[in-house]
Amino acid sequence: MASAAAVVTVSSPLTCHNKAQTRAILPQSSASNSTTFTNSSIRSSICKFSKLRLQSVLVKRTHVLNQVRCPSDSCLGSDSPTVDSLPLRIGIIGFGNFGQFISKAFKRQGHIVLATSRSDYSEYCQHNGIEFYRNIDALCEEQPDVILVCSSILSTETVLRGIPLHKLRSDTIFADVLSVKQFPRNLFLEVLPSEFGIVCTHPMFGPESGKHGWAGLPFVYDKVRMAQSTVQEQKCAQFLSIFEQEGCTMVEMSCEEHDRHAAGSQFITHTIGRILSHLNLESTPINTKGYETLLQLTENTVSDSFDLYYGLFMYNVNATEQIENLDRAFETVKQKLFGRLHDILRKQIVERVPLQGTSSSSSSTTTREQMKKKNSNKATYFLPSSQQMKDLSSFAMTPLPRGNNDEDVNVAASHTNEPSLVPR
Ligand code: NAP
Repeated sequence: MASAAAVVTVSSPLTCHNKAQTRAILPQSSASNSTTFTNSSIRSSICKFSKLRLQSVLVKRTHVLNQVRCPSDSCLGSDSPTVDSLPLRIGIIGFGNFGQFISKAFKRQGHIVLATSRSDYSEYCQHNGIEFYRNIDALCEEQPDVILVCSSILSTETVLRGIPLHKLRSDTIFADVLSVKQFPRNLFLEVLPSEFGIVCTHPMFGPESGKHGWAGLPFVYDKVRMAQSTVQEQKCAQFLSIFEQEGCTMVEMSCEEHDRHAAGSQFITHTIGRILSHLNLESTPINTKGYETLLQLTENTVSDSFDLYYGLFMYNVNATEQIENLDRAFETVKQKLFGRLHDILRKQIVERVPLQGTSSSSSSTTTREQMKKKNSNKATYFLPSSQQMKDLSSFAMTPLPRGNNDEDVNVAASHTNEPSLVPR
């Protein structure tokens, strides 16, 4: 794309707005000493560095240096090619489980990661080449290209309202990874000044499910607000390309649609996992594949915080309906099971009454032989014959229609020969 922003030029004086970008392109040793720079030393470093990059890099698109301008064409020729994407400076707010996990991919792809969090992660950051800031103010002074909100769903509003927005450049992009999407979209639109770009995202994987790589895993995004044909849009594309390069399946989807789908899939999955965790399931020597899947699901689910799960429920308008559906579905299944058992028992009880009546009224006159014959004809003992017991215990009284999963369960049950459901 042809754009004035493509030309790297430096204007004087350097303002607070371009300080952070300048640091990003300066050699590491200089960057750590930024307060002692003079404008001319900065300019000369920028020019040297830019020339180097331009010689070695395949030019794909313009980048963020539109605010850093050289005073003359001595830096770059007037017909200079555009500068290829420099690393993004990504400021992560909320550096817990997921923030740390996602930062690894940013680092792997050569981006600069800055982080801040409620807790102190400075030691982790030191070992992983990440700049840690003890508070949001300090991080914002560095003016990252992208502010990535990775805090818990429950704390996001407080976190967002605590960001000193005036310290950020006007072309900053705000992104989030919250597992619900309408809530952060509305919050961002409400709190952030109109010039900030907004892209809401949800990587549909986490530290467990994505530990062997992200290839083929869905990454949902919604470009909620992005100035067209600007550096902001280019930065957004660069940010999204990180996930594309990791092999994610990129899914552009509205936040509303995401929440609808996620309630019926992710929330249900987490709920089942949470329920199973209360059963204290253990591995057995005869695990089926299905059971292995349940054990894995339980493990994955409980490795996420309860705050996350509660956030899925509380901040997705569709979640309540889904939990009610789940409740109804469980009741339906129980009714199918107990309903059949109930019918059998009732039949036994009801048919026992005339039998008793018959028995008492005829006790003096009916011979043992007659009684036996009568009973065998009617087959109405409260305690059934052994053949009846077998049928009762199996629940497999009728032929099963094909393709009905619920009935398939009964097929499985028919092989168990478990008689304990029948009162003796
Ligand atoms: P989480 O429990 O949802 O969030 C933990 C993060 O929130 C930590 O950075 C924590 O900071 C911060 N936090 C919690 N309470 C806070 C408060 N009162 N004030 C300020 N910060 C607070 O667990 P998570 O797995 O790390 O998830 C982070 C975000 O990623 C969530 O929005 C989640 O929906 C999203 N996400 C998670 C996954 C996943 O598989 N885990 C996948 C996709 C998206 P400290 O650590 O400093 O206490």
